[in-house]
Amino acid sequence: MEFITGYTLEELKERITGLGLEPYRANQILSWVYKKLTTDFNLMTDLPKKAREDLSKVFSFHPLRLEDRVEAPDATKFLFRTQDGHLVETVLIKERDHLTLCVSSQIGCAVGCTFCATAMDGLIRNLTAAEIVDQFLQVQQVTEERIRNVVFMGMGEPLANYDNVRKASQIMVSPWGLDLSKRRVTISTSGIVSQLKRMARDPFMRELNLAVSINSPRQDLREELMPLTKTNTLKELMEVLKNFPLPRYRRITLEYILIKDVNDSVKEARQLAKLIGPYKKKFKVNLIPYNPDPNLPYERPPLERILSFQRELWDRGVSTFVRFSKGADVFGACGQLRSRRVMLKSHLHETHPEMAR
Ligand code: SAH
Ligand code: SF4
Repeated sequence: MEFITGYTLEELKERITGLGLEPYRANQILSWVYKKLTTDFNLMTDLPKKAREDLSKVFSFHPLRLEDRVEAPDATKFLFRTQDGHLVETVLIKERDHLTLCVSSQIGCAVGCTFCATAMDGLIRNLTAAEIVDQFLQVQQVTEERIRNVVFMGMGEPLANYDNVRKASQIMVSPWGLDLSKRRVTISTSGIVSQLKRMARDPFMRELNLAVSINSPRQDLREELMPLTKTNTLKELMEVLKNFPLPRYRRITLEYILIKDVNDSVKEARQLAKLIGPYKKKFKVNLIPYNPDPNLPYERPPLERILSFQRELWDRGVSTFVRFSKGADVFGACGQLRSRRVMLKSHLHETHPEMAR
């Protein structure tokens, strides 16, 4: 079976022409899928009966099967199963006035950050474009309010799966697709320099929102926390970011997880301010207090320490925001996605016993 969710409009036109259908049928099909959220050819009443039958033999819609969902007050975690048996996690985050979907781009991750639960099993495989788009489609199908924001902050390193992330993003922002605004789709990367250069040259990708996980202003500590930075050094990273062609009024977000007694000192805040200082119009900083994981040795700093870190940056003119990740109590917060149903269940016994059955 092929999945409709893996096709751009142009590709689908070409594919169905090969099946003897008129190209404009592709517009009709995608409009059913992405505008009306209909994923059943039988309901696509403006297609001739014969075409519906033929299409059903070749295509289906969902490469993922929704297995479970866990609700918390400010987030819902969706657990999907791929056709080859892996688990994929997607988190719907309820912000004050909008919904944000945190999607996964890979099963596991090869980058190996020591603080991140996704890294524990290494990389299993890339997700296909259809699997990425289907996370959105299926969550939207069961969500009344329209989801307008997507962040690639679930499992995996999106720039290590460049082509599929690119195609999925195209489907997300095209008028014939999910029709999201380009600046509401955020690629979050650990900073793979060669791929950032590729993104900078790519007129489509560089218009998406960019977030880079910096996590320390020091090369030595970055190497310890994020093994990939031994080659993708801080110097090279800053060089590519400094030159990154941004749309007007847009800034790059530098994400900084604050980990107690590891990277949360005022001295480090000053070093970070110094690093960004000359280009502070180009960056803003999001401080993410660490979400502890039972299998990892790190802790979250106390609130005053988080606020002093923020103050140091503000005092030096760097726009800095503190972002508590939502959904921490369903293990759906950033960096806690690991596809361990067992872990989820045992945690649920403590927090939401009625859902842990
Ligand atoms: N691989 C990409 C995107 C997925 S990780 C990246 O690293 O940017 C998304 C974000 O979650 C990153 O900023 C990462 O630093 C952060 N993160 C990872 N583990 C975390 C944890 N335990 N608590 C808080 N944030 C975490
Ligand atoms: Fe991969 Fe991002 Fe986790 Fe690092 S923080 S291991 S890059 S998912």
